Amino acid sequence: MYAEVKLPDPYYEAQKITVDLGFTYNIWDACLKKCMFFRNEDENLDACDVCGESRYKEVGGDSNNPQIEGKRIPVKRVRYFPLVLRLQGLFMSSKTSSFMKWHVKGRTNGGVLRHPANCSAWKEFDKKNSDFASDSRNVET
Ligand SMILES: [Zn+2]
Repeated sequence: MYAEVKLPDPYYEAQKITVDLGFTYNIWDACLKKCMFFRNEDENLDACDVCGESRYKEVGGDSNNPQIEGKRIPVKRVRYFPLVLRLQGLFMSSKTSSFMKWHVKGRTNGGVLRHPANCSAWKEFDKKNSDFASDSRNVET
């Protein structure tokens, strides 16, 4: 028997909740050759500042297709997931917050490799970055 799950209705209300929680993404235009993103002060550029590659595809003025005519289509787009908002969301719940700090508070050191936190590379990272490792809210993986 499954527990009844209540989902918001309609879809846009569910999407609003994910946006409010920070589980969304930004879309940026990018240079085809991966030189730069067209954002911030470069948001209105039509060509790459580094290599000169055009930001937009040549559409060619297809008058038979009114959806394409007159539109500027970027040659490349990337999605950026803001990490800080996602981490803040994980720390908002007491249940997930305890999982986020497990690498400090729940780790056992019985000589058995149960988690990457028990490996020598993790311990070496902690030793080299003691300021970072001393705060249990910092996420290492
Ligand atoms: Zn470029």
